[in-house]
Amino acid sequence: MLHSINPATEEILGEVETASKKSVNDAVKKAKSSFSGWASIDLSERALALTKFVSELRKTKKELSVLMTQEMGKPITEAEEEIDGACTEIEWFAKEGKKYLENEIVEIDVPQVKSYIAYEPLGVAGIITPWNFPLETPIWSIAPALLSGNTVVWKPSELVPLFSKEISNLLDTLLPVGVFNLIQGADSTGKSLVDSKVNMLSFTGSSETGKKIASRSGKKLKKIVMELGGSDPCIILKDADIEKTVDGTILGRFLNCGQCCTSAKRFYVEEEIAEEFTSRFVEKTKAMKIGNPLERDTKIGPMASKEQLELLERQVNESVKMGAKVLCGGVRQGSKGYYYLPTVMSDTNQKMPVISEETFGPVAPIVPVKNVKIAVKKANDTHYGLGASIWTKDKEKAEKISKQLRCGIVWINDVNVAYPQCPWGGIKESGIGRELSKYGILEFVNIKSVIVK
Ligand code: ADP
Repeated sequence: MLHSINPATEEILGEVETASKKSVNDAVKKAKSSFSGWASIDLSERALALTKFVSELRKTKKELSVLMTQEMGKPITEAEEEIDGACTEIEWFAKEGKKYLENEIVEIDVPQVKSYIAYEPLGVAGIITPWNFPLETPIWSIAPALLSGNTVVWKPSELVPLFSKEISNLLDTLLPVGVFNLIQGADSTGKSLVDSKVNMLSFTGSSETGKKIASRSGKKLKKIVMELGGSDPCIILKDADIEKTVDGTILGRFLNCGQCCTSAKRFYVEEEIAEEFTSRFVEKTKAMKIGNPLERDTKIGPMASKEQLELLERQVNESVKMGAKVLCGGVRQGSKGYYYLPTVMSDTNQKMPVISEETFGPVAPIVPVKNVKIAVKKANDTHYGLGASIWTKDKEKAEKISKQLRCGIVWINDVNVAYPQCPWGGIKESGIGRELSKYGILEFVNIKSVIVK
C-alpha cells in the first residue's frame, strides 16, 4: 500500500494499492491491445477527447486544487494556477499542436518522385512523473502522447497518489478502455515499467533517476525523452530595474516553495548593485507569509516531504560549515509539517552544496560578481543545463549574453514561465529531448518518410 501524507500536518490522507510487476505488465498489455483502435481514429477525434478533458478539469478545479495542496503542500492559489495553466496547454495541443501531426509534403528535385512525411504513433508510451507539478508535468507528456495516437501507461509520483487517481478517473471516462492506464507505486513500480514492453518512455524527475532509466532502457534501445534537474543561474546586470528584478526573482526562487526544475537557484549580481539588490531581496523574503497552504494569502507552504526537507537542510548546513552566511531563514519552522523558512545566503562559492548541487527548496544564494563575463563563466560552471535568466534594461545585450549560456531555456526579465508554443527542456545532465511546442509533440511519433515513384 502507498500512503499519502499531508506535508503540512503529517497526517495520512489516504492510501492506494501499489502495482506489482505483474500488474504493470498487464497494464502494458491492455495498452497494447487498445493501440490499433486508438491510432486509427481520426486525429480530430483524439483532439476532441483532450478538449473534453479540459472541460472536466475546469468543472472540478476547486476540489482538485484543494487535493493537490493537501497532498504536496503548494499554496492553494498556485494549485489553482497550475490547473488553469494545464488547461491552456492541453487546449493548445488539441487546437494548434495537432497541425504538426498532419502529413508534410517534401519537395524533391527528381521528376515523378513525390515524398511526404507521415507522423505516426510509436505504440505504448510509458510516462513517469514527479510530484512538484502533479498535473502540468504529466499532461505535457500525456496530451501529446494521446493526441498522436499512442496509448499510455502512467506512473505518477508516490507522493501524489490520490490526486493522480482523480486525474486518471477523469481520463478513463473520456477514452476507450485500455487507452489510458494508471499504475501507482514508487521506484520498483517505475523500474517494472521501464523494463516492460512499452515502446517509449517519457520521464521527468531527478538526473540521478534519469541516468538509471536511460541505462536500463538503453539495453533495449527504447526511445526516451527526459526532463531532469536544473541549477538555473540568474544573472542580474547593474542596469536592472531593482524593484522589478527583486519581485520577479523572489517569485522565480520561492514559487512552489522553490521546488521547480527551473527555479532561479543561483544569483550572480554585478557588484555595483549587489548590496542594494540583496537588502531588498532579504526584506521581501522576510515579509512572505509562511504557513497553512490552504489559506489564500500564504506564499510559502511546507516542502513536499521529509526527505526533501532533510536534503535541503544538509545542503544549507554544509555550506555554512564551509563559510557561507545565512542572511535570513536557514532553519525549519514549527514542530509539525515540513516547513523551512525562506532563506537568503551570502559568502557562498562554486564548491558549496547550495551552488554545486541542485537545491530543491526555498534557498537563494546571492553572489556579487565583477562583470558579466565572470557571471557567465560561473553560470555555465555546472553539470546541469536546463534554464537561465538575465535581468537588465538592455534587452539587446541580454540576447547576446543568452548565446553564451549552455542551457535549453533563457528568460530575459522573467523566469520559470512556460508557454505551450515554446520548447521546454535541457542539455547536459538536465535532459534529452523537449516538451511542449512542435518538438514536444514529435517526441511521441515515428517520423516516417514515404517516397513514391
Ligand atoms: P524526485 O526527487 O523529484 O521525486 P525522482 O527522480 O526520485 O525525483 O522521482 C521521479 C519519478 O521517478 C517518481 O515517479 C519516482 O517514483 C520514479 N522513480 C524513482 N526511481 C525510479 C527508478 N529507478 N526507475 C523508474 N522510476 C523511478
